[in-house]
Parts: sequence; structure tokens; C-alpha cells
Amino acid sequence: MGKFENGSRVLVTGGAGFIGSHLVDEYLARGCSVTAVDNYCTGSPKNLASHPGLTVVEADVSEGLPLPEEPYDLVLHFACPASPVDFETLPVEILKVDSAGTFHALDRAKRDGARFLMASTSEVYGDPQVHPQPEEYWGNVNPNGPRSCYDEAKRFSEAATFTYRRQGLDAAIVRIFNTYGPRNRPDDGRVIPNFINKALAGEPLPIYGTGEQTRSICYIDDLVSGITALAESGEAGPVNLGSVYELTVKDIADTIVRLTGSQSEVEYHPAREDDPERRRPDLAKARELLGYEPQISYEAGLKSTIDYFRQLAATP
Ligand code: NAD
Ligand code: UDP
Repeated sequence: MGKFENGSRVLVTGGAGFIGSHLVDEYLARGCSVTAVDNYCTGSPKNLASHPGLTVVEADVSEGLPLPEEPYDLVLHFACPASPVDFETLPVEILKVDSAGTFHALDRAKRDGARFLMASTSEVYGDPQVHPQPEEYWGNVNPNGPRSCYDEAKRFSEAATFTYRRQGLDAAIVRIFNTYGPRNRPDDGRVIPNFINKALAGEPLPIYGTGEQTRSICYIDDLVSGITALAESGEAGPVNLGSVYELTVKDIADTIVRLTGSQSEVEYHPAREDDPERRRPDLAKARELLGYEPQISYEAGLKSTIDYFRQLAATP
């Protein structure tokens, strides 16, 4: 039996968000009692189905965690706006949730003697000069550019997490590479939800820069299996999780136009400042420590996400 199954108590900060809500579902399916805490700044209560094992707490994690006293076995700290569009509209909120918010989550895990997982990101590598990116690479981050509110806050959260670990907390870091799937917000601004929704509406797909920049795109189910494996493992990480595919943004646009059967064309716009040129995870550590191997092809993942957005558009 796994460590976090029937009867275990799991806390998910950012539980009403894209990744958080899939983690909530996964641990409910394993028979856990789950608390999702969220202030809905980028998530939605609609992502959480009613379930007898689920407690939902509306709160700002940066201000504190007003939670039931009963101890948690596992704390998953996933609250944080994560789209480059949010870096413009919610920069202070991002800095706070990945500093003060991280301390609140760490302190709760410490109080409870819980396992703790921090959602870090490939953004800690900045615009990487090493390719693909192994966990040992320290990155190439502009400390005060437009993405720094996110990149540096996540680097701070990593430092805080490993500081608590050195003081005895059973803590781990997962570095997540671009992940997509059902429950992405249509107006989230990230490349896949944006391109799918433009394609479904028959509008042009905006490409920032040349479209030759790359991303590895990971389907949510693969990410969830990697995160649960890391939680079970007792490993500290940091561990990269993501996909084996590396596609140019132009490839992503063409594939989405083809899979939606859309007549949309692409439209070129100026590049985003500090936009990373190439990004792909070195997955050797995830394979070795967690037996991680992504299973979903990018076409299958995109088709399922397109179906989700089609249904969403048809729902009044
Ligand atoms: P998301 O925006 O869908 O989810 C974030 C959730 O956190 C939302 O429900 C939001 O309302 C909530 N939240 C934000 N600030 C909060 C606060 N102060 N108090 C309470 N709730 C708050 O984004 P996501 O893609 O699901 O990302 C989840 C986590 O994974 C984030 O920490 C993000 O940095 C990390 N991550 C995601 C990706 C990705 O590709 N999706 C990549 C790397 C890292
Ligand atoms: N991008 C784009 N058009 C969009 C959204 C994103 O060309 O509508 C590009 C963006 O410039 C970047 C890549 O797609 O090079 C991935 O962007 P996203 O916002 O999804 O996440 P990032 O990996 O930059 O955090």
C-alpha cells in the first residue's frame, strides 16, 4: 500500500487551480481526506467537484492557513499564478505567495510532521545556456526582468524548502516543465490554451517572436503520476518532471490548427522580453529515482484538451 492512501490527510494549496485540482482528484481517488485551499485568483471552484472526502477553504495562503487542527500527512504547495500573463497582472501576489505563502505551508508541514512538496518550475533555469536542463544546472535568470517576480520567487521557495529540510522537514522539490490539459483556463494566456481557443474561434494564433523557440509540452496525467511518485518516494529532489517532446512554438500552432480542423492562420508579434529560447527537461533523475516515463503522446494530449475546450465553449 502507498504511504498516502486510505485515510491519509492531504493539504493542497492552490487546490482549485489547474494542477492542484488534478492532485485533489488523484488523492480523493486514493481514499485520502483532502483539503484544498485557494483564493481563486487564477483558479475556480468549478474545478472541484463535491466529494465527501473534500474540504474546501477559501483563503489567501500569503496571509496564513486557517485550517482544521487535525494534522496533515502530506502538504502539496501549489498555490501560485503561473502564466506569463499573470507575471504582468499579479506580480506582487506571485512574490508573496512564493515567499510568505511558502513559509505558511512549510510551517504547517513542520507542525504536523508531514511530507512537503513544493511546486517549482523550469523557470528557475531562466533562459538556459545548457540544453536539455539537468537539475544540477543553476540557471540563467534575469533577477529584475519582467519574469523575475516568478523565477526569483520560485528560487526563493526552493531555498526556503531546502532550509527547512536541513532542519529536519521531510521536504521535496519538483521542477515542473510546461504542462497542459483539461482545466487550463481559456484566458490563461499560456501557449496551448491560447492557441486552442483561438483555433476553435477561427481567430489568428498569435506567435511572439520567430516561433522557432521551443518548449517540451507535458500532459497533466503524466505530471500527476510523477508528482505522486515523488511524494511516495521520500526523495528530496529537486526533480524535473515534464515530457520528452520538444516542439517549436510554430509546430505547436500548426499541430493545433490541424487537430482542430480550423481555418485559422498564425500572426507574428514582437517577442516577449526574456522569453527562453529552448527548454527541455533532462529526465534522467526522474527515471532513475521515480521510474518516471511520460506515457501520453502530444497529439493524444492535445486532442483531449481540445475536446475539453470544445465542451466548455458549448456549456452555457
Ligand atoms: P493555476 O493558476 O491554474 O493554479 C494556481 C492556483 O493557486 C489557482 O487556483 C489560484 O487561485 C491559487 N492561488 C494563487 N495564489 C494564491 C494565494 N495567495 N492563496 C490561495 N490560492 C492562491 O496554475 P497551475 O498551472 O495549476 O500551477 C500550479 C503550480 O504549479 C504553481 O505553483 C506553478 O508555479 C507550478 N507550475 C506550473 C507549471 C505549468 O506548466 N502548469 C509549470 C511549472 C510550475
Ligand atoms: N507564446 C506565443 N503565443 C501565445 C502564448 C505564448 O507565441 O499566445 C509563446 C511564448 O512567447 C513562449 C512559448 O509560447 O515562447 C510558451 O509560452 P507560455 O506563456 O505558454 O509559457 P512559458 O514557457 O513562456 O512560461
